[in-house]
Amino acid sequence: MPKDSCNNCGMLIQPEELHCPKCDEHRYTKNHKKTLSIDIAHGRQTLAQAEQQLDQAIEKAIAEQFGKLKLIVGRGLIRGEIRHSLDAAQWQDRIREYQPEKNNLGAYIIQMHSCH
Ligand SMILES: [Zn+2]
Repeated sequence: MPKDSCNNCGMLIQPEELHCPKCDEHRYTKNHKKTLSIDIAHGRQTLAQAEQQLDQAIEKAIAEQFGKLKLIVGRGLIRGEIRHSLDAAQWQDRIREYQPEKNNLGAYIIQMHSCH
């Protein structure tokens, strides 16, 4: 985990700590309202690489408690195929739901489970 400062009081939080040593604020509290963005289609990825990147992005979004995950899939093969992985992730309850981004068919917006 990266070194970080507290969202609430600015105190330095050590990489291994999940809470601020001064005010006990959770280090990722602010992420609940944020979107983690990842592009899995524009780096010449193979489908297998894209699926691996999706998997890592979901793990990161869960670990760092992001509210949403924006998945940029482009308009090619990956877009259609990645839906199987998204369906599986939803079935496994790792994500809550997903839908194409409004006015942008080249991206999916994934709703993560809220931890509260
Ligand atoms: Zn603090």
